[in-house]
Order: sequence, then C-alpha cells, then structure tokens
Amino acid sequence: VAIAVTRERREGETRCAVTPETVKKLIALGAAVTVEAGTGVGSSIPDDDYAAAGASVKPDTKAVLATADILLKVRGPTAQEISALKPGAVVVSMLDAYREKDTVQALAGANATAFAMEFVPRITRAQVMDVLSSQANLAGYRAVIEAAAAYGKGFPMMMTAAGTVAAAKVFVMGAGVAGLQAIATARRLGAVVTATDVRPASKEQVESLGAKFVAVEDEEFKAAETAGGYAKAMSDEYQAKQAELTASHIVKQDVVITTALIPGRPAPRLVTAAHVASMKPGSVLVDLAIDNGGNVEGAKVGEIVTTPNGVQVVGWSNLPGRIAADASALYARNLVAFLGLMVKDGALGVDLEDEILKASVVTHGGAVVHEGVKG
Ligand code: NAD
Repeated sequence: VAIAVTRERREGETRCAVTPETVKKLIALGAAVTVEAGTGVGSSIPDDDYAAAGASVKPDTKAVLATADILLKVRGPTAQEISALKPGAVVVSMLDAYREKDTVQALAGANATAFAMEFVPRITRAQVMDVLSSQANLAGYRAVIEAAAAYGKGFPMMMTAAGTVAAAKVFVMGAGVAGLQAIATARRLGAVVTATDVRPASKEQVESLGAKFVAVEDEEFKAAETAGGYAKAMSDEYQAKQAELTASHIVKQDVVITTALIPGRPAPRLVTAAHVASMKPGSVLVDLAIDNGGNVEGAKVGEIVTTPNGVQVVGWSNLPGRIAADASALYARNLVAFLGLMVKDGALGVDLEDEILKASVVTHGGAVVHEGVKG
C-alpha cells in the first residue's frame, strides 16, 4: 500500500501529518511512504530526516498523489490536491467536516473514502487515535504560555529584597482536556487557579489538580453531561445564572483562559463585553474556542485586541500550531494507530463495519455517508 503525505496548505498551518518516527512505523505496517518536500518545515523536520527514515521525498505534489492509496493530512486537502487523487483513494485528516462543506463535497466527488479524525469516538480502544485530546492538551498548555507572555506581571509569588510579587489569579472556563492542561500549567507556573465547567464530573478533576471549582451547581448542571461525555447546550436560564456568577468572579481575576465547546455547535458565549470591561487594566484573556466562534465577546481571530480599559483579549487561531513540533509528533502517532485498523501486512482493507471507522467515515462510494454531515 502506498501512503502519501503532502504539505499543509491551509493558512497558518504549521503542523504535519508524518514525522520520521512515524515513517518508520508506517513502513513497519508494510507501507511505502512518499512525502512532499517541505512537509516538515513548520515542525523543524528537514526533508533529509524523512528520507533517512525510509520515505521517498518528492518535490511535485501531483507526483506524490498520483499513486497514493492513502493520503494523510492535518487539515483537509485543497481542491487541487483532491483532483490529483486516485479515484477511490483513502484520505485521513482533521476535516472540520461540519463546516468545510466544499471540501467534503469535493472528496465525495472524487470518490474518495475520507475519514475525519475529529469524529473518532472517545472509547477506550480509540484513545491512542484521539486527535482532539492530543491537540487540545497542547493547546491548553500553550494558552497559558501565551497568557503569561502577554501579561505584564509574573505568575508565581516571588519574595525579593525589593518586596513581594503577588501570584497571578487565573480562571479557566471549560475544564475538558484543554482546560485541565491549562489548569496544570498555570499551577506549575505558580498561579492561584480557579476553574468552571457545566459537567459535574469535571469538579473532581479540577480539584485533583489543586484548583478551586466555581460553578452554578443546580439541577440542570447535574444532568449536563451527555452519554458521550460532552457538555449539552445549556438553557437560557442557566446561562443567565452562569453569567451572574462569572460577573462576580471575573473582576478579581488577572488571567482568564476559555476553552468551552459543544460538539457540532458554535462555542458558547461565556464572557460578555461587560465582563471584560469590569476587569483590571493589564488583565489577559485567551480564547481557545476562537476557531469555533469564541467564548469571549470581542475576541478576534488571529489578533490581540486591547480594550479601552486596557485588557488584552488573545484570539490566536490554531494554538496547537504554535507548538507545532510536539503537536505533529502526537498527531502523527494518532494517525499510525488509526491506520493500524486498515493496513495489515502491507495490504489495505477498509472494514466500514468497524466501530471506529464507521463513526469517522465522511465520504465513501461517491457520496457523503456521515449522518451528521449529510444533515
Ligand atoms: P470539549 O472540547 O467538547 O469542551 C471543552 C469543555 O468545555 C468541556 O469540559 C465542556 O464540558 C465545557 N463546556 C461546554 N459548555 C460549557 C459552558 N457553557 N460553560 C462551561 N464549560 C462548558 O471537551 P473535551 O475536552 O473534548 O472533553 C469532553 C469530555 O470527553 C471530557 O469528559 C473528557 O474527559 C472526555 N474525554 C474522554 C476520552 C476517552 O474516554 N477516550 C478522551 C478525551 C476526552
């Protein structure tokens, strides 16, 4: 089986879908691996390292794709890449399939069997393939680093001959994979951390990391977790109570990291312009949900907005891409585990009845087959 990896072409995408380590692992599965020249640049991986690991490195995209049975990407392939695919080829990528309708249609049109890594179910067997977790983990870490860089004061309490520097107060909103890593990172830097979520299960996790849990814990909260482990969209009534609690808590905070997402929907608005306006000058918010519409009113994709009261709202897109070498390494390992479901002894065999493949397949046989994306 021939596996191809091309350069990422989406704006600002620094990650890549293969590393020298995973080239070796793919070859061990019996695959031949072709990598487009320049694929690893954003992750500091030279072409020579891919070649040394056993990949064939080619400069021409079309030549890379022409013979590929499987194309691996971080983000969805471009129209040109899709048009250069062999009919029936397998594509494995984070497709952002709910929003990237044109890409999904083009993949169906090219008769590709395309898998969206974001749809891999979060069952025990699939943990090793869970790109949402691997990337969110790094994004949570990086959000705190971005906040610390923008903040004009220190995070830890420091006792010096010239007096004491106070510890920063950090509030993490949304305590899933990214939020928990943000809590841990802020704690390591010495901040005093509080966190909130709507899922009751998150309370114990927050507390086990040494942070204080702050939330509206009413009857709706007790039922806010879906069977899949995700948050539900909360009622207007709950959101009003939550906004009130946020208002009283946020004025005392120096740094706020927001990470709240609801699958298949725009991110919930947790921080209003009035909340931001109530914060002290010099405070920093980092909106990790910005690529899904944002949790913070006034946050702008790819910008640091400074409000009239001197608060900075950081809206960097693609935070995992700001820690690209590690993000690529983890993502590429997630892909090897996923490919283990369909490549055996060098042969490609796609069993769409497999629970994981069934949940993540988006296009097959010339059509969009994923129920959620179709609707
Ligand atoms: P996510 O990225 O979908 O959302 C981030 C967090 O925002 C979640 O904790 C969510 O509850 C929270 N949130 C949503 N709406 C909110 C609101 N209005 N106010 C405050 N917080 C809000 O979540 P995730 O990080 O992908 O994790 C979701 C769940 O999946 C967690 O329970 C996690 O532990 C679990 N998980 C399980 C596995 C596995 O078993 N393989 C792997 C990864 C994650």
